[in-house]
Amino acid sequence: IQHLAEKQSEPLHPGQQRAVHTTDGPLLILAGAGSGKTRVMAARTAHLIKDIGLSPKQIMVVTFTTKAAEEIRQRIARQLPPNQARELVAGTFHSIFYRMLLHHQPGRWDQQRLLKKEWQKWRLLRESGVLLGHEELAALKENEALDALGVVSRWKNEYILPREAALREAASDAERQALMLYPLYEEAKKKLGWFDFDDMLIGCYEMLREDAQLLSRYQERITHVMIDEFQDINRIQYETVKLLAAPQNNLCVIGDDDQSIYGFRGSDPRYILGFTKDFPDAQTITLEVNYRSHASIVSLGYSLIGHNRERWAKECRSFHMEEGDAYLFEPEDEEEQASRIVDEILHRTEQGATLGECAILYRTNESARPIVERLSEAGIPFHYTQEEDSFYQRQTVRWALHYLRLALNPDDTDALKEILPTLYISHEMWNTLRSQAILEDVPILHVLPRLTQLKPYQRKHLQTVADILASCRECSPAQALELVFEDGKLRDYLKKRARSREDGKDRWSDELQQLLSASKRHATVADFLQYIDQMAQREKEWRTQRPLPDEAVHVLSIHRAKGLEYDHVFLPDLVEGALPHEYTLDELRRGGNAALEEERRLLYVAITRARHTLCIGIPRERFGRKTRISRFVAEMGR
Ligand code: ATP
Ligand code: MG
Repeated sequence: IQHLAEKQSEPLHPGQQRAVHTTDGPLLILAGAGSGKTRVMAARTAHLIKDIGLSPKQIMVVTFTTKAAEEIRQRIARQLPPNQARELVAGTFHSIFYRMLLHHQPGRWDQQRLLKKEWQKWRLLRESGVLLGHEELAALKENEALDALGVVSRWKNEYILPREAALREAASDAERQALMLYPLYEEAKKKLGWFDFDDMLIGCYEMLREDAQLLSRYQERITHVMIDEFQDINRIQYETVKLLAAPQNNLCVIGDDDQSIYGFRGSDPRYILGFTKDFPDAQTITLEVNYRSHASIVSLGYSLIGHNRERWAKECRSFHMEEGDAYLFEPEDEEEQASRIVDEILHRTEQGATLGECAILYRTNESARPIVERLSEAGIPFHYTQEEDSFYQRQTVRWALHYLRLALNPDDTDALKEILPTLYISHEMWNTLRSQAILEDVPILHVLPRLTQLKPYQRKHLQTVADILASCRECSPAQALELVFEDGKLRDYLKKRARSREDGKDRWSDELQQLLSASKRHATVADFLQYIDQMAQREKEWRTQRPLPDEAVHVLSIHRAKGLEYDHVFLPDLVEGALPHEYTLDELRRGGNAALEEERRLLYVAITRARHTLCIGIPRERFGRKTRISRFVAEMGR
C-alpha cells in the first residue's frame, strides 16, 4: 500500500491528464499494458467527485475482478474524505448486476440456488428428469455434456436465446449437442428454481429493458459510467451498459485489444474496436508510455504481439531508463524448473525483494503443481487458489499410490481394499478373503490368487500382481510404478474404464505420466510415499491459511493476473502444447488461427505483468516427454 501511495503522487502524464479531464460524452481510452489506464480511471473518478462535485453514488465503475475493484476503491479512498468511497458503485459486472437483481427481485436470486460449476449444471439436468424421453441426450458422456454447456454459456453471453440458437447451423459436435441441450437446460432450471452466472447478466438486462420506470430511475441516478478492461466485455454486458449510460452517454471505456483473453466466455475485442462506430461522437485517447515495465520487457511484449493480425497496432515506450532483466532458462524437466524458480525467488529476497513482489503465472494447473510443492518444501509462504481437486486425491493417482503402499506393507488391508476394483475383485469377495487370511495367518494379498471363485487366467494375473508387489520393495519408485502400470495392468484397466465410463474423461494417462515424473526425485518407494503424505498434510495447511499479500509469493493463472503487476514474474513451461495450449494447436491444424492469436495475447498479458524481472522456463522434458520450444519464443526475438 505504501508502495502504491508513493506511485500515486507521481504526476500524471499530459495524455493521462487529458483522459481524466474529459468527462462529458463517450470516451474511449485505448492503450497498451502498463500505460496507466487503471490509474487514470481511479484519478478520473476522484476528479468527478472532488472537482466536479458529483456524489460517489452517481458513478458506476466496472472492473474485471473483485480484486481490481477493491484496488480502485482504495486508490480513490486515499483521495477522498473517509466513507465517501464506499458509496461508489464499483465492482465486477456480476457483483453490480447481482446486487441490482437482489434489490428489485428479492426471492428469485437466492445465492443457494446459484449453479457455479458446469458439473452442477449437468447434474441438475440429469436429476430434473427433463432428459427423459431425449435418448440422444441421455446417452451423452459427461465431458461431451460439459463442452456443450460451455457452448450454451457462450451463447447466453452473446444474448443468443434458445429460439435464436435453434436457427443456427451447428459448426461442431459440441454446438450440435448444445442445440439440443440448451432448451432442456433452461427448462430444468426454471422448473426447479435454479440460475447460473449467465442468467444474472440476462436477468438484469431484461429487467432494465422491460421496466422503463426503473431504467429511468437508474439513468437519472448514475450519470457517469466507466469500464476497465473493456476488451473483455461481451454482448449482454455491453447492451446493459448502453441502457444504463443513455441518454447522456457519459460512458468511458478503457482497454487494450491486445489483452482480450476471455473469448471462451463470449468476450469480443470487436466491441472495443467498434466503439467509435457505436458512438460516433466519442473521443479517443491513446497513451504511449508504459510506466510499469522496464525497457527489455516492454520490447519483448511488443515483438510478440506484433505477430497478431487482428489488432489495432500501437506501441508504448518504456518510461524507465533501466533495461530490466528478461531471460530464459532451460531446465531438464518440470521438477528442475520448479527448483530453479524457487532458488531464483530466494535469491531475489536476499537482494531485498519481498515475497509479495514475486509471482508465478501459469497457463494450466499442472504447470503450477511442482512449483507449489517446491515452495511448500522450502517453507516459503504463497497464495494459490487452486480451482481443481488435489492431484494426489484423484482416483487414478490414488490407485497407483495404493499399489505402492501395498508393496511396502502387504498387511495394509486398507490399501488393498481400495485397489480391488482395478483387480476386478468384487467387494463381496472381500469377507471370504479376509477370513481365509486370518485362518491361515498370512497377508490377504497372498490369499488373493487362491480364491476358488476365480477363473484360471484371473488367478494367474493376481499371482503376477502379488509377485510384482513383492519385488517392488527393492525398486526405485519410478521402476515400481512402471511395473504396476505395465505388468500389473493398471494402465489397461484405466483405459477400459475410461472407455466405458460415462464421464469419459481422458485425464488418466496424463495423470500417470505426472505421477511417474514426480516419483523420479525419490530414491525409494518409502521416501516417495512419505513425501506424498507430507504434501497432503501441507496442502491442508495451504488451503486454509491466508498469509498477508505482501508476505507471500503469488501463484496464479495468467487469466487471473490481468490488470495486476509484480516486480518479478516467473513464467514456467513455455513449450508447445502448454503455451500455446494443446487445443489451439488442434484448431490450427484444422485451419483456424483465432485461438492461436488468443494464446499470443495471453502470453502478452503474462509478460506485461512484470516490472523488473521476467524469467521464462523452457523445460527440455515435461512429464516424461520431450518438449518443443514454444513458437512464441522465436517470435519474441529470442
Ligand atoms: P494494464 O493494461 O496491465 O491493466 P494499465 O494501463 O491499467 O495496465 P496501470 O495499472 O494503471 O496500467 O499502471 C501501471 C503502473 O504504472 C502502475 O504501477 C501505476 O502506478 C504506474 N503509473 C501510471 N501512470 C504513471 C505516471 N504518470 N507516473 C508514474 N507511474 C505511473
Ligand atoms: Mg489496468
